[in-house]
Amino acid sequence: MQLITGTTKLLGVIGAPIEHSLSPVMHNAAIAQMGVDYVYLALPVKPADLDVAIAGFNAINLVGFSITIPHKQAIIPLLSEVSPVAKGVGAVNTVWRTNTGWSGTNTDVEGFIAPLQAYNRDWSQTTSVILGHGGAARAVVVGCAQLGCTEIHVVGRNVQKLSQFQQSWENASLPVTLKVHLWEELPQLLPQGDLVVNTTPVGMYPHVEQSPVDVTVMQGLREGAIAYDLIYTPNPTQFLRQAQQQGAITIDGLEMLVQQGAAALKIWLGQTPPVDIMRQSLQQHLGLST
Ligand code: NAP
Repeated sequence: MQLITGTTKLLGVIGAPIEHSLSPVMHNAAIAQMGVDYVYLALPVKPADLDVAIAGFNAINLVGFSITIPHKQAIIPLLSEVSPVAKGVGAVNTVWRTNTGWSGTNTDVEGFIAPLQAYNRDWSQTTSVILGHGGAARAVVVGCAQLGCTEIHVVGRNVQKLSQFQQSWENASLPVTLKVHLWEELPQLLPQGDLVVNTTPVGMYPHVEQSPVDVTVMQGLREGAIAYDLIYTPNPTQFLRQAQQQGAITIDGLEMLVQQGAAALKIWLGQTPPVDIMRQSLQQHLGLST
């Protein structure tokens, strides 16, 4: 274990609840490997305390921090600068200190895209189907647009929320056609999907037997399509198991978690972190085979 001394600089993650965050595991593993004088802590911050917490971070010279639920949007007015990608997503997950105040960006987009870049596809010919339309789905939409996908279909269970989601992109000038659908339309939609992303929490531990897509509907998934689940426990999820049976390529949520963290650490430390060490530390922590 690295030695924490009077000069050790502080990084952290804020959220509520925060006790189950995996970020301290992977960031401290990287910090130890890099031999830099930093420590990364889970910092519980309730919604009502956000501005007081940020003022406190100023006072104690915190170098930077990650942000998770429920602060990803609420942090924005407290920042002096927000990156274009974070503005696009409408949420910030990484903040760092500058001479003029706190700057924020969203590394979830980079994290989402990273494992997809291993596949040599003509993304402009790719139809994406996104299941769910919460916070993570927003990063997925921006990620798909950055890859060059031109057609994105978003599936949800509430007409009003779907329509709000669609409207929220109207001023974003994304170079994509974004259509919204109810789950009932999935049997017709799924066979068109080249990239199908689960952004719902359905199938997450402890409900490991659940899948967001009915097993008979899943039979419509194209062989060679990419099925991507943002969930990282269990690994693989039921959704990915079913996709594998259909001959799809599968990607789990662990790599996105690792890559968004690596992108954040690079911003704070100004050095490329050891991504393999970050990935292995999480696999070990979660009891996954490495
Ligand atoms: P969120 O903002 O709460 O959004 C969840 C979405 O799923 C909403 O659209 C919600 O629809 C839908 N949903 C929830 N339960 C459903 C159900 N039973 N059937 C159909 N739809 C359902 O959550 P989030 O922050 O986007 O996170 C979503 C998932 O992504 C979580 O599992 C999270 O762990 C994972 N995630 C992973 C990473 C990573 O790095 N791998 C990063 C971020 C998030 P309603 O609005 O209708 O409830």
